[in-house]
Amino acid sequence: MSTSANKPSRSGQRHAYGVIRLLGLDDVMHSLGEQSFELYLEEFEYRLGQALRPADKFTQATPGKYRLALHGVAQASLIELAAAKLLRELKLPVDIIGDRLQFDFCMGFAAPQGECTNKQTAQAAEVALKTALQQQKSCVIADSDGVVPKQADPHLLPRFAEALERGELVLYYQAKVDAAFQRVVGAEGLVRWHHPEEKRVITPGEFIEAVENSELVKPMTEYLLRAGIARCVEWAPPLTVAINIPPAVLETADILPVVGDALQFFGLDAARLILEITERGELPDQSLQQLEALRGLGVKISIDDFGTGQCSLSYFRDLPADQVKIDASFVMAMQSSHKDRSIVRGCIDLAHHCEMQVVAEGVEDKQTAADLKEMGCDMLQGYWIGKPLPFEEFERAHLLGQAAEQEPDLFAALLK
Ligand code: C2E
Ligand code: CA
Ligand code: CA
Repeated sequence: MSTSANKPSRSGQRHAYGVIRLLGLDDVMHSLGEQSFELYLEEFEYRLGQALRPADKFTQATPGKYRLALHGVAQASLIELAAAKLLRELKLPVDIIGDRLQFDFCMGFAAPQGECTNKQTAQAAEVALKTALQQQKSCVIADSDGVVPKQADPHLLPRFAEALERGELVLYYQAKVDAAFQRVVGAEGLVRWHHPEEKRVITPGEFIEAVENSELVKPMTEYLLRAGIARCVEWAPPLTVAINIPPAVLETADILPVVGDALQFFGLDAARLILEITERGELPDQSLQQLEALRGLGVKISIDDFGTGQCSLSYFRDLPADQVKIDASFVMAMQSSHKDRSIVRGCIDLAHHCEMQVVAEGVEDKQTAADLKEMGCDMLQGYWIGKPLPFEEFERAHLLGQAAEQEPDLFAALLK
């Protein structure tokens, strides 16, 4: 198929543009083999064609990256409808010669603005895609105020409240390994929504922002906290579990008894629980006091997405935290950008000077893992080590005998 993206339309009509990037293609290729991988891409392109209207166009820009033109669409609200449809239809399970998979992808869209040419709109869509990748959102739509996240579906929160009641939320676990000694040291719990009607697993990019801005954030976090602690008790000490705690929850007065009671109920040593707090800006005094009190229980505090916020260095020096997680956007760009590599090195040194441990997230390849080890990074997390998995698969892959056979191979290269 061909598209008019990047060229002014001959009719003078203005269109919305989008870019979709399939994620994790190396892994899919590796697990499926070349022939099935072709089928996988063909199925994606077929579905894309089916989900778009007949007047819309798409073309492949590079393998796994597609540009779309939404014919005659000028408003962000219409793009939202198109994006919601694409998310729904492209995420349905796909069967490739006996393997059941789900497409993992990110989208960026832009509506035409003011005097913008179609080419400029198409460029804005590329920026929106970049933002989606950096912020790990499934879709970002650019509008006249710059790039903004897609508006939430009005039915989402009521349905999410039911999901919480019905136990449709589950934690997937992603391994964290010690960079020097090659051992799995714990896992981060990442929420997934097993949606029975849509028959798919929904990733947080589609709901977490709306939930974090609603009162459901507290019951969700408490539920996941208990779920993670209950699993961790079954693992051999000193394996840890990390749970994401949104800043709004940290502000609530009862987070301390909730954590304390859950640890006591399941009988988990507090030192095996890590609370990941996102660095978005300076925390209010009340939250800082809560962090101190949580540390007083023996719980470890980790600063997530380190490097993306706007906090002063003295703020970090005084922050009651044990660990920082360098944001994946720096780690993933390390091989192609000297600046990002320097930022990563700087974060590691800064954190060590502040007596904090460092986890690098978004480690996708062997070279990055080796470089991080050489820079003195303490722990690694990312697709190269393992993707987030349902707990049985996590245990099989990383904690049982199978892992013992695989891991030395994975890390052998680092030791040479
Ligand atoms: P985060 O806490 O920074 O989590 C890391 C995200 O990066 C996860 O996406 C994970 O699947 C993804 N990731 C890990 N390694 C790699 C890699 O090598 N390459 C790439 N491209 N991505 C990698 P996920 O699970 O979709 O979560 C996205 C965000 O949603 C999280 O970012 C966190 O902010 C939020 N989230 C996830 N689970 C929870 C939760 O239980 N509670 C709350 N409040 N937020 C959560
Ligand atoms: Ca996290
Ligand atoms: Ca992060």
